[in-house]
Amino acid sequence: MSLEDLPSLREALEAHGLWAKKAFGQHFLLDLNVTRKIARLAQVGEGDHVIEVGPGPGGLTRALLETGARVTAVEMDERFRPLLQEVADVAPNLALVFADALKVDEAAIAAGQPAHLVSNLPYNVGTPLLIKWLTGPWTPKSLTLMFQREVADRITEGPGDEAYGRLAVIVQATCKARRVLDAPARAFTPPPKVDSAVVRLEPLAERPGPERLDALQKVTAAAFGQRRKMLRSSLKVLGGEELILAAGLDPQSRAEVIPVAGFLALADAWLARR
Ligand code: SAM
Repeated sequence: MSLEDLPSLREALEAHGLWAKKAFGQHFLLDLNVTRKIARLAQVGEGDHVIEVGPGPGGLTRALLETGARVTAVEMDERFRPLLQEVADVAPNLALVFADALKVDEAAIAAGQPAHLVSNLPYNVGTPLLIKWLTGPWTPKSLTLMFQREVADRITEGPGDEAYGRLAVIVQATCKARRVLDAPARAFTPPPKVDSAVVRLEPLAERPGPERLDALQKVTAAAFGQRRKMLRSSLKVLGGEELILAAGLDPQSRAEVIPVAGFLALADAWLARR
């Protein structure tokens, strides 16, 4: 048996009596044309190791395996074990890990080698997972991730845009970020209430280290916590005008117009004052 001989995703779900559970943020991609498109956008193939979070019924998993990549799929919902085991039985390059992705040690899974992250993320934990991958001790080689459209905007928009905020600054300080595919709600089973989009992230070679990232989290939390206020007021507790001038910024400007480089300068100025 090979991947092509597997039953369709719908048949597999039915055969195992499985249905989507809201608590796990489950909205499945059952159209292999869509999952193949995501696998192509991930730019992975033979010789690559992919960590896929939340394989569910395995549509994206199958498309990733078809590229020739080695896949480690991390799923929290034990109900999918028998179904995914059937895929693993015909695909020796698939390894299954049943665990909470928020708690797994990706460095141990990657075993010291580079690995790519690809996921149709569960809505409820998508943002915390992204923060873990961008600011934690282990960095993926690339990330190709499906988010709610509104979250994708909060990741990719720039200064002056409505969705520009803390998340965009943290992501863009560490990665090159692009929205590469829009996916309407009807592409999923069951359809969620909102549209989705795939974001492609490529970690920068020159990324801020842990101390600078901590400082960046601090200044962006204060600045965007009161995004309509002038920086001199929102950053008062961190050093006010003196800090802002040391970063080369205008104390009368608002967080929403400050570029990523400006926030990095604020983080550096804050670190220098300690
Ligand atoms: N990849 C599948 C697809 O595209 O059809 C399923 C995507 S569904 C949006 C999200 C998947 O993530 C579900 O299978 C869900 O059980 C799983 N999941 C939710 N929270 C998780 C967590 N903390 N760790 C690992 N998997 C999780």
